[in-house]
Formats: sequence, C-alpha cells, structure tokens
Amino acid sequence: MEKEVKIFKIIIILDILLLMICTFSYVKPSSKLQQIPSKNITHKILMPKTNKITIKNINKSVVSNKTIYLTFDDGPSYLTESILNILKAENVPATFFVTANKIDEYKDIIRREYEENHTVAVHSATHVYSYIYSSDQNYFNDLTEIRNKVFKIIGIKPRIIRLPGGSSNTISKKYSPGIITRITNNLNSNNFYYYDWNIDSTDASGCVSKDQIYNSVITHLKSGTNIILMHDSATKKTTVEALQSIIEYGKQNGYTFAKITKNTPQIHHHINN
Ligand SMILES: [Zn+2]
Repeated sequence: MEKEVKIFKIIIILDILLLMICTFSYVKPSSKLQQIPSKNITHKILMPKTNKITIKNINKSVVSNKTIYLTFDDGPSYLTESILNILKAENVPATFFVTANKIDEYKDIIRREYEENHTVAVHSATHVYSYIYSSDQNYFNDLTEIRNKVFKIIGIKPRIIRLPGGSSNTISKKYSPGIITRITNNLNSNNFYYYDWNIDSTDASGCVSKDQIYNSVITHLKSGTNIILMHDSATKKTTVEALQSIIEYGKQNGYTFAKITKNTPQIHHHINN
C-alpha cells in the first residue's frame, strides 16, 4: 500500500512539472506581428540609404500658356553662385545641364542647385566633341560618367540631358556619320529625355554684351514653351549681368518660370547627322 502511495505521489509531481513546462514554454502569438505581410518587411530591409538633401520650398515651378525655362549649360563654375543668388532673390526656378569639368570643385553648388528646387540635368562629362561623337560607346560612357558624378553628390542619376552642340550639330559628322540619329534613337527608347532649345541667348559666341543677350531673349519670347539656352561657364559674365533684366521682363509680360521635368514638352532640333 505504501509503495502505491509513493508511486501516486511521483505521478502527481511529474504532472505538476509537465504543467509548469507547458505554461512557461507557451508564447502568446503577437497579433501585430502576424498582420505585417512579409513582403513589407523585406522591402524595408532592402531600402537603400538615400543621400538626404531637403529641397527648400522656394523657386516654385509654374507652367502656364506662357512659360520660360531658363537653362544653363557647361557649369558649374565660379559664376554659378551669382546665378543661384539672382534666381533665389527672384524666386524663379531653372535647369542646369552640368559637365564634369569643375564638378569636384563645386559640389556644394550642385547640392545648392538641387536643394533650391532647380533641375540638375546632365550635359557631358568631358564635352570633347572628338571623343563623345567618335563612337556610340564613347558617348554613352561619357554620359554614364557625368550621371554617376551627379549621383554621388545629390543621390539622383539625372535622365534629363542636353547633347553638346544640341541635337542639330553637324560637327559630329566629322567623327562618325549618323551618330546623332543613333544616339537620339537610343535615348528615346531608354527613358532619357533630351532637350534642345528654341531661344538662343547667343551667349555662346565670343564676347557678347549683356544688352545683346537680353535682346536676343526677349525679342523671341512667345506663347507656349520658351526654352532659353544660356551658359554658366567661367567666361560668361555678361550672361549673369543680363539675367536679372530677362527675369524682370518675363514677369512684367505675363510669363511664368518653370524648370524642365520629364513632363516638359520636348523641344527637339532637326537632326542633321
Ligand atoms: Zn555645352
């Protein structure tokens, strides 16, 4: 009898132990965790850390039936800062087609262009016609180089571009017949947006006075899209001097100012090569 009681006691103790083990090892399923689809978690983990630059709420881009797109090629240079100061004071956006020439020296200027709500677009890394227009491969290598340089500064690889000399240039014929036709077809079918201009400020040609630049622009303004070609390379002091008056004329005559985006009507020249 005593033996039976002992066995019974052991069974009771074992039961209690088993109950304790079960109680402590039970984890209440978290309803919250179950609600998060695994897809979202993966997405969060894979998100790359972006180069965060806060875009200031200035230079509002306003598209109307009379719009001016100020565009600056060949920068950045020591003059770009003055251009940015005028644009900021006038609260006007613009588009910069940048090169790699001085980009390492003026990283802060590129950052400022982006931060102050302008479009940072690309022109060319080298801007050397004999190189970029001698083969399709060279052109696209050069384009990749400048896009990567901009990416390192603002965390964006621009898809808005302008060909050196514009898409109508004939210089390229000397290096590779038909290259502009091939390049532009390639750009169009690969989600790049190339922009020429329909108003030339004439500041590319030698020593041009600020009055000549001003007149070249304002006498050609019309309804619709006005894409103005200007330059912010180191020799273009008179462009900076003319800028304020061009903006004032535009404002006084009912024009709005906008930056080029993927939605801007693509102004393309006639291709001659
Ligand atoms: Zn250029």
